[in-house]
Amino acid sequence: MLKVKNLHVYYGGIHALKGINVEVNQGEIVTIIGSNGAGKSTLLNTITGIVKPKEGEIFYKGEKLSLIPHKIVAKGICQVPEGRLVFANLTVKDNLLLGAYLRKDKAEINKDLQNVYEIFPRLKEREKQMAGTLSGGEQQMLAIGRALMGRPEIMLLDEPSLGLAPLLVDTIFKIILDIKKMGKTILLVEQNAFKALEIADRAYVLEQGRITLEGGAKDIASDPKVQEAYLGKR
Ligand code: ATP
Repeated sequence: MLKVKNLHVYYGGIHALKGINVEVNQGEIVTIIGSNGAGKSTLLNTITGIVKPKEGEIFYKGEKLSLIPHKIVAKGICQVPEGRLVFANLTVKDNLLLGAYLRKDKAEINKDLQNVYEIFPRLKEREKQMAGTLSGGEQQMLAIGRALMGRPEIMLLDEPSLGLAPLLVDTIFKIILDIKKMGKTILLVEQNAFKALEIADRAYVLEQGRITLEGGAKDIASDPKVQEAYLGKR
């Protein structure tokens, strides 16, 4: 469904991605794990057109993507950025409705809103609250809910568990699995390798701009090098 081919990205003199090849098939959860600064966010930001690659191509359903952000969103690719980035001075409901800004089908939008409230009852309870006053975990739910309102086919999630209490981390990962069951495809970038590998079908290990390992999530989780570096086992 999504194919990243030989991607090279530079920030000035920094070679952040050094020939990345990644593939995501329909209905899969694919995770990219790697430590701070490995290039995980850069990869997602390049797929959504925020960062321009120096070399390489991205294909979506066999078609080469023109890397222009709004065109990419219109194709059904939606990124939930790291740090949530909700609109602090808008209510929860208005934030969610903004996620549907490309759509005109009011009845369907309302149906999806109720659907998001079903997935995240906490957001329903707080529908009229300003998003800026939500807790970190609630803001993360809102960011995911807002992305769902755009009816994406594939969701790119950047560190959804970052800064959350352990119980909430479990909730968020369970919800990501539920979203997969809804038929969505997910590319998940995570530092929490343990949790990400638990729910993923396949995984890539990204180190200093290079993919150093790829395979089934279970195989990656049992790889001794991965266990030592990312899972805290020796
Ligand atoms: P983290 O888990 O800490 O978010 P990451 O794997 O997502 O890390 P990136 O944010 O993609 O890593 O960064 C990859 C490299 O590119 C890092 O060395 C980072 O300092 C550098 N970098 C990222 N954004 C920029 C930028 N706008 N300008 C210059 N260098 C950047």
